[in-house]
Amino acid sequence: METKKATKDTLKKVLSSLEKGSDEAIGSYLYKGFRLQVSKYKQSGCERVLQLYNRRRKNGQCIACGVKVKRKNPLTGALYRLCDMHRKKIDKKR
Ligand SMILES: [Zn+2]
Repeated sequence: METKKATKDTLKKVLSSLEKGSDEAIGSYLYKGFRLQVSKYKQSGCERVLQLYNRRRKNGQCIACGVKVKRKNPLTGALYRLCDMHRKKIDKKR
């Protein structure tokens, strides 16, 4: 997990996400030389994978490698879930 430099505002946001029980609070933060880590207690590997998948989907990244996806699906207008390389790889299997 990448540690992000946090400001007071970041901490406020994290706290309000925590109050809501939102996954957005999850992260690693650096504040005045302290590291604050928010993660789910007893999270299963499956949940972690799903979380990563959702985060990448939201950011328009390839779900396999995290590279930014630039191409859109002409049918739906939405970004592809996979980068060019992984799309080719998976298409070949069909
Ligand atoms: Zn990829």
